[in-house]
Amino acid sequence: MIKNKVAIITGSTRGIGLAIAKKFLENGAKVVVCGSKKESVDKALLTLNEEFPNSEISGIYPNLSDFNSISESFKTIYEKYGKIDILVNNAGISARASLYDYDPADFVKIMDLNVNAVFNCSKAVAPYMKEQGGGVILNTSSMVSIYGQPSGCGYPTSKFAVNGLTKSLARELAKDNIRVNAVAPGVTNTDMVAALPPEMVKNLVATIPLGRIGEPEDIANAFLFLASDMASYISGVILSVDGLARA
Ligand code: NAD
Repeated sequence: MIKNKVAIITGSTRGIGLAIAKKFLENGAKVVVCGSKKESVDKALLTLNEEFPNSEISGIYPNLSDFNSISESFKTIYEKYGKIDILVNNAGISARASLYDYDPADFVKIMDLNVNAVFNCSKAVAPYMKEQGGGVILNTSSMVSIYGQPSGCGYPTSKFAVNGLTKSLARELAKDNIRVNAVAPGVTNTDMVAALPPEMVKNLVATIPLGRIGEPEDIANAFLFLASDMASYISGVILSVDGLARA
């Protein structure tokens, strides 16, 4: 579905991002793993190269808070492959403190990675996509971007902003044949969820009509569809992949 497309995926050293990398490789893409540290990127490359020995896989680790650092990294990828077809803005962090206990520095940190980095990476990639006649930008949002959540207000706030960027950039970049969409996962089986108290996860599952939490592959399947030409007339969409969870 995305054979020979060049895809940069932020936060792809583990969890949902790694599942997207695998799904894209299974479907013939050339994948650029983008993480925060050289060691975690190297580890992911080792795993992926073992699993997909005949694929083209690269690694970068720009500082996602710094537009120039991202710009430099993306330039090396463009020079290597002559194009960048797909950008997945997936790196993200959360924090669950109540407003009373919320450290203002944590609020800034969440906004910086979950929002500013999406802006920075989109700004860095768009000129290449425009130049080559089109491309696809995909963002990882969250179901809490639709419903909010009862504590940890920074995280849902950041994902509301991701939806805003998705819809606004979709409108702005359509004329350059760049589609911009987001996937809004529900509770998904990754380190982010492993960090939650088991009782909380159990209570969450009880609220999901499809009766289970999502697997990273459930989410990766939605990204594959939106990245492919099967979604060539879809832009500005926030696609819920959440087992019908509504809280
Ligand atoms: P994870 O913690 O397993 O992975 C997060 C990824 O982001 C890792 O690859 C990590 O290296 C990267 N990352 C963290 N800090 C970074 C930084 N400063 N710079 C660059 N990269 C950094 O989390 P996950 O569950 O796979 O989450 C991936 C995305 O999915 C996030 O945007 C998250 O908000 C979203 N999401 C997750 C769930 C869930 O239940 N797991 C639900 C909805 C949305």
